[in-house]
Amino acid sequence: MTDDQVRSAPDRHPGFPAPSDLHAGRTYLVTGAARGIGRATAEVLLTHGATVAIADVDEEAITTTAREIEAMPVVLDVTSRESWEQARDVLTREFGPRLAGLVNNAGITRDKTLSKMDDTMWDSVLDTHLRGTWLGCQVMRPLIAAPSVEDRAGQSTVVTDAYGRPAGGAIVNTSSSGRHGSYGQTNYSAAKAGIVGLTKTIALEFARFGIRANCVSPGPVETDMTAGVPDEVKATWLDSLMLSRMGLPHEIGTATAFLLSPAASYITAQVLDVNGGEWHP
Ligand code: NAD
Repeated sequence: MTDDQVRSAPDRHPGFPAPSDLHAGRTYLVTGAARGIGRATAEVLLTHGATVAIADVDEEAITTTAREIEAMPVVLDVTSRESWEQARDVLTREFGPRLAGLVNNAGITRDKTLSKMDDTMWDSVLDTHLRGTWLGCQVMRPLIAAPSVEDRAGQSTVVTDAYGRPAGGAIVNTSSSGRHGSYGQTNYSAAKAGIVGLTKTIALEFARFGIRANCVSPGPVETDMTAGVPDEVKATWLDSLMLSRMGLPHEIGTATAFLLSPAASYITAQVLDVNGGEWHP
């Protein structure tokens, strides 16, 4: 990295990571990346030299974001198997059958207390977070798994890393902090807890393909998802955080980029809280 490249780095939030080559030569897919945490995660990966495909159900927004940050746009509804399969085919055509990592980040909220929550609110949140993450891991696995090479006799050998382990990529799924429940969010809390169980099992099942799978678990972050929350509710959130402030999207993206990177090569089946230190007096 030359001084010129460092100087020409995009002027983002103070604390945005300085450019590096940590992810050079690696291709990632980030879902729900038209805005918010997904977009910031893509920006962090790009800053560290990656090639990034960004996916979202919002076609207009993902096209605009892709142009702005110089990523590849993919229109994807994470709740649909067909849509995932189309995305897989597009990525394979564009980059070959090789993905260094997948970030399952797309999300929605449909809040109501349990007595007022209808089936549509339950199903849409569970489908987007839990089914969407499950489908993404299943459909993209062949692209993330360690590649194999065939010798002249047609014998195939799995490519290994410096430690002799299958050299696959990594998955980061997005859970959420809030171990003490989240008022009006039975659907969201159930989905996010489910993602932790799903991820640990995927880590177990995919280890033989050389794939690591972890969760990032954000606290309250300044995005469109939290923009409409009344100030008095936000104040109660901040009361329970040691750092007493909301997180910024790139602070989650930085943690995700670490979990995807070779620097995290011995970390799998873990949940990384990025939440300003949740505590309850
Ligand atoms: P956001 O609302 O700013 O962005 C979410 C993106 O997901 C949007 O671009 C939306 O179009 C996309 N999306 C929704 N449904 C989709 C679908 N079916 N297919 C593809 N894309 C879809 O939200 P955010 O705050 O950036 O949240 C990102 C993730 O982080 C979510 O999983 C969310 O639950 C989680 N999270 C957020 C917070 C927070 O405080 N913002 C806290 C904890 C966890």
